[in-house]
Amino acid sequence: LACGCPPEQLAAMAMALFLHFKKPVMIVEGKMQYLYDERGRRYLDAFAGIVTVSVGHCHPEVTEAVARQSALLQHTTTIYLNPQVAEYAKELADRMPGNLKVVYFVNSGSEANDMALMLARLYTGNWDVVCLRNAYHGMSIGTMGTCGQHTWKQPMPQGFGYHHALNPDPYRGAFGDDGPRYAADVADLISAATPGRVAGFVAETIQGVGGAVSLASGYLPAVYKMIREAGGVCIADEVQTGFGRTGSHYWGFERQGVLPDIVTMAKGIGNGLPLAAVVTTPEIAASMAGRLHFNTYGGNPVCSAGGRAVLRVVDRERLQQHCADVGAHLLSRLGGLAQRHDIIGDVRGAGLMLGVELVKDRRTKEPAKAETAAVMETMKDLGVLMGKGGLHGNVFRIKPPMCFSRADADFLVDVMDVALSKL
Ligand code: PMP
Repeated sequence: LACGCPPEQLAAMAMALFLHFKKPVMIVEGKMQYLYDERGRRYLDAFAGIVTVSVGHCHPEVTEAVARQSALLQHTTTIYLNPQVAEYAKELADRMPGNLKVVYFVNSGSEANDMALMLARLYTGNWDVVCLRNAYHGMSIGTMGTCGQHTWKQPMPQGFGYHHALNPDPYRGAFGDDGPRYAADVADLISAATPGRVAGFVAETIQGVGGAVSLASGYLPAVYKMIREAGGVCIADEVQTGFGRTGSHYWGFERQGVLPDIVTMAKGIGNGLPLAAVVTTPEIAASMAGRLHFNTYGGNPVCSAGGRAVLRVVDRERLQQHCADVGAHLLSRLGGLAQRHDIIGDVRGAGLMLGVELVKDRRTKEPAKAETAAVMETMKDLGVLMGKGGLHGNVFRIKPPMCFSRADADFLVDVMDVALSKL
């Protein structure tokens, strides 16, 4: 933080800090879907600390589990087992389909994706990785290469062997919602830019940072087949889409009818605790046999206890069904808003992972970036916090804690209506 910095340097610092508002908010307290600033003002949180607070800010069950474990054992590192991590790995594996039964714990989404890329390369003996043009998978030196847009990278070498395929974006892409047509680009990439053999493919099923883009229908099944035929493995980045957020299913990939070989998860897994995991098959994990996997804090007992509480709450409160119900209501109300505000070009997403894209002209789809920032600022002043994203920064990202209610959804839409009318 820019302590004691001359004011002229603050604007640049604010950019580096990724602050979302011109007048930043200082948050001091969180309760379920609400945040409170230092003056005690309440905000409805529709962004959940970038899609991270899954079951609610300071959910009592998570708080209690963390407090109890903190008083018992806070840290061992991976050289010892602890009961929390052992039970947690089992509980997580129980919620995975197919043969996804081996769990590695790390601390962040970037680390999880780094590890997935490493496993893919070790297991296949290949190097090349196919990713998407609008992808975001982390800011580590390893994952930066997978990101599809310069905004999300630093100006330095990005590693080798990353190939960015056409983004299967139903709104902006050339082939609409025709997934197999975009998939043809992956076939071209494999034959033209790789030795014909690849290490793998990585994608989210709904691109989060990329602006809530749901991959075109039929895209993933077609690409998974091509990648496997080229000797590669398929990695699903469930950092944002996991744990029921997309509604009806636990994992985003289930909506697309595919079964990945490696799944990465972070953010919602720990409700804000620094926790992340990579889950894979015993066959792929065997490529680590005799090799060191070490991570000082990975599987920390306190975070594991919190992670276990998150799983219990998601199941008991039936949050995936709740996301499906409230999300469908919110999506339809946002659709209604789009009929009255021409600036809304697209409304999309699933469950409580929704996006609203603002454009200056519905035909040219010219991004309305300044307007997006202005509406977000007004909504913040009216007590609703949202995120924004997409390559052009013109997409509202609506991804609240999963306890968000229908009344919250109605309030958000009413406030957005007011803010859009003020433009
Ligand atoms: N994958 C996805 C899909 C993400 O959205 C993010 C973070 N925004 C990451 C990976 C990286 O996670 P972290 O910031 O925890 O490293």
